[in-house]
Amino acid sequence: MKRIFVTALSLLLLLKIQAQTAQEIQKTESILRGMTLEEKVGQMTQVTLAVIAKGGWGNEDGSLDPAEVKKAVTDHHVGSILNTTAHALPLATWHQVISQIQDEAKKTRLKIPVIYGLDAIHGQTYTLDATLFPQNIAMAATRNPSLTAAVSKITAAELRASGVRWNFAPVLDIGRQPLWSRFAETYGEDVFIGTTMGVAAIRAYEEDGLKKTTSVASCMKHFLGYSASRTGKDRTPIYLPEIEMREYYLPQFRAAVKAGSSTIMINSSEINGVPVHASKYLLTDLLRKELKFEGLIVTDWEDIIRLHTIHRVAATPMDAVAMGVNAGIDMSMVPSDYSFYDLLIEAVKKGKVPVARINDAVRRILLLKFKTGLFDDPYPEKAAIAKFGSPSYQDVALQSAREAMTLLQNTNNTLPLSKNARVLVAGPSAQSISALNGCWSYTWQGNDERWYPAGSKTILQAIADKLGADHVITSSGKGFDHASNYDTTALKQSAQNADAIILCIGENAYAESPGNTRDLALPEKQSQLVKAAINTGKPVVLILTEGRPLFITQLAPSVKGILMAYWSGRKTAEAVADVLFGDYNPDGKLPFSYPKSMGEIVLYDRKHTEEKREILNSDVTWDGYDPLFPFGHGLSYTSFAYSDIKLSAATLKGSQPITVSVTITNTGDRQGKHTVELYSRDLYASITPCVKRLRAFEKIELKPGESKAVSFSITRADLSFVNAQLKTVTEPGEFELMIGDKKASFNYAE
Ligand code: BGC
Repeated sequence: MKRIFVTALSLLLLLKIQAQTAQEIQKTESILRGMTLEEKVGQMTQVTLAVIAKGGWGNEDGSLDPAEVKKAVTDHHVGSILNTTAHALPLATWHQVISQIQDEAKKTRLKIPVIYGLDAIHGQTYTLDATLFPQNIAMAATRNPSLTAAVSKITAAELRASGVRWNFAPVLDIGRQPLWSRFAETYGEDVFIGTTMGVAAIRAYEEDGLKKTTSVASCMKHFLGYSASRTGKDRTPIYLPEIEMREYYLPQFRAAVKAGSSTIMINSSEINGVPVHASKYLLTDLLRKELKFEGLIVTDWEDIIRLHTIHRVAATPMDAVAMGVNAGIDMSMVPSDYSFYDLLIEAVKKGKVPVARINDAVRRILLLKFKTGLFDDPYPEKAAIAKFGSPSYQDVALQSAREAMTLLQNTNNTLPLSKNARVLVAGPSAQSISALNGCWSYTWQGNDERWYPAGSKTILQAIADKLGADHVITSSGKGFDHASNYDTTALKQSAQNADAIILCIGENAYAESPGNTRDLALPEKQSQLVKAAINTGKPVVLILTEGRPLFITQLAPSVKGILMAYWSGRKTAEAVADVLFGDYNPDGKLPFSYPKSMGEIVLYDRKHTEEKREILNSDVTWDGYDPLFPFGHGLSYTSFAYSDIKLSAATLKGSQPITVSVTITNTGDRQGKHTVELYSRDLYASITPCVKRLRAFEKIELKPGESKAVSFSITRADLSFVNAQLKTVTEPGEFELMIGDKKASFNYAE
């Protein structure tokens, strides 16, 4: 009965959304018919706030220049504005900014509201006091899509409270190149986790067809292959065979389009020599025709003109504009002048871009503005504002940070430490807040602590709060640039009075190209510090605050504990302290393979069946998977055992699913959460099969001694791969399933 009621309600909601959409399409067509070419091209233009701010770039207070607002909105009809000029602004300033822009839009002939876009990739970055959550890489470690949904809903609500209705998130790039400076923005190396988390975020951002005052348009980014740069440096060329692209890089976008994401942002780089912004194949044939994406395509930063200046595939700036728009771009993040506007008008007049292509783009932009409710009320809504900064948001931030914590090593069960212990807390991230938050944290780079909210704790403070200040010693100053952080003599002296050393190391915040690096070695000064700590003979626990894996291979065997804290947002410090002293039983699992060295970046789901082979008379292994910590690794203070693996049938036939079930028992003496992961392996296939692939996971919680049965349904689609003809297929034959240390086999027959 209840199910019938729920189904009827969803049907009614669907019908309502369809009726609204039909009305919006009608209204869009009627506006479009009355628009001049200039008005249309203006809608396709997105400029940055600096263009209309008093004094331009570097404007500190968000004040706007009325003449520049008029020039943008009235004279150039711009459809969209993005970002801030320097740092996060107070909520009230956002209200002024948005109101001034929308007031100006109301004065224009057609009164088309402006859509504002921001990068709230782990919380609303650009409003002071908004809640910052773990970066995607840390959210992936939680293996908890419901938390991702909760985090995304709060982010959307705090964006809406600020008057912003478009979020340039989620990042769907896959983290298979750990050198990449945007690795932390990804959900790690696995396709299934990236897809599951990405879809959870999109559904939460765009809840109820975007009609809620707490929802925002999402933006899948960066289509396609952006993270696969050959050098690992941001925005450098990519060489990606299509078979690999379709196997690992495309599925997240395919699923996100199905989940209803409204917009997509394009990869700034080039693949196999073709800049993605000029690729008709990727933007039109693949994205529009094959994936059936109907929403808006926006460029990334300044990428149209770069077709001329950097990629050099367009001989003139006008050719660049024509090339991008003809390839399928709907809106250009110009972002600092009106060159795109002028050039596109001229290109249309010269017949280089068909008017039909312009209409097509503007139609999508107007529809997005209808969908996000801007035509009804473009101003920040009271209902959304009332919810800004709700105390409950902090609870979600803390829970996410706790579930992200990944205990990589715990020699002789050194952890949790006793709350009566005296500890030395040192290292460059012990007294840093920015190193706990990372990129896009109140500023683009995230490394300016002046803008972090009062009450954000460092790891040193969080531990002192837990143990009492008299139990905590430190030998160092604040942050990565402070020389005393690397003073090994001071460390040695302070350690004399300590029972254990908690050494906080890793990376300070960075974003995009400023985060480019030549290798992933732990900086020498930090390495010396760890060695000095080990030499004291006291137990050493490493806390890794980092956006990508830094090599600690030589150091790991000599320390007692290693806790991967990632950049887990505003509550990182509290979560670290909770895990160290046993107030939280860690349950995070690595979303990537933690490599030993530059020459051993091998991924868990690679296409090679050789696990590890020793070459005679050499200590070099041959294409084996031998990371420092494998994908999925993460220890607990309790233990879990698997038993009773069962399959519902020995053969999976056609489209009928089969079920695999397993029992998990908490065999330790602490309550704990645990993620049960199902991997599959195709024993023989027409091309080399992947060693294994994650196909499903479920996070459960068990009391000591408690058992739970978990079951997963497996369909033909779950066993598929991309074959040599670039088709996604499931081939008949034998498959193996792996859950924990248990295995089961079955056959697939067409
Ligand atoms: C980044 C995008 C971001 C855009 C707007 C670019 O530099 O690559 O991810 O959405 O800036 O801030």
